Amino acid sequence: MKKKLIFATGNKDKMREIREIMADTDYEVVSMKEAGFTGDVVENGTTFEENALIKARAVCKACGELVLADDSGLEIDYLNKEPGIYSARYMGEDTSYRIKNANLIERLAGVPDEQRTARFVCAIAAVFPDGTEKVLRRTMEGRIGYEEKGPNGFGYDPIFFLPEYGKYSAELPREEKNRISHRGKALRAMREELV
Ligand code: IMP
Repeated sequence: MKKKLIFATGNKDKMREIREIMADTDYEVVSMKEAGFTGDVVENGTTFEENALIKARAVCKACGELVLADDSGLEIDYLNKEPGIYSARYMGEDTSYRIKNANLIERLAGVPDEQRTARFVCAIAAVFPDGTEKVLRRTMEGRIGYEEKGPNGFGYDPIFFLPEYGKYSAELPREEKNRISHRGKALRAMREELV
């Protein structure tokens, strides 16, 4: 019989990605909703790792099963790593990414390529019912472009340029992005910790 693992997210794309990654393991992945968790978790940590742990601990406490949670965001070096853990909340949760992205490009006006370095960060935490905790982070390095480009992805993908590929993150097909993304790498690294 498969072991149960709860992934603490309400995001369907993240659920699909983790299910694909855990498909050939002993784990059956269920969402927090499927596990019956309806609470609201306040992510008041100061790092990606803390926020992932806060979420995973809260769901594990309520459900008593192994829980994985992630926290991610964009760090722009020239802006002292903004928006960082505030990526979703930058300029307000309900502000469109058109506006957020235009604002970030504007804040980098006149900044040359070599100072436009940035990365997507993803921390994944695992909390076991016996209290054991694991947390790890992976990144996808790139730089902020000069315009929005590409039809795929979400959030800051249209302004995130990947020099190695000569493409913006939003120009990559889903499978290709999952292969190189912060979240894909972090999920696969956590999978190795669990199997
Ligand atoms: P969360 O981890 O789901 O809270 O996501 C944090 C925020 O970081 C998202 O709302 C996006 O603004 C940003 N973000 C995280 N990962 C990505 C990505 O792969 N592409 C674009 N934006 C991302």
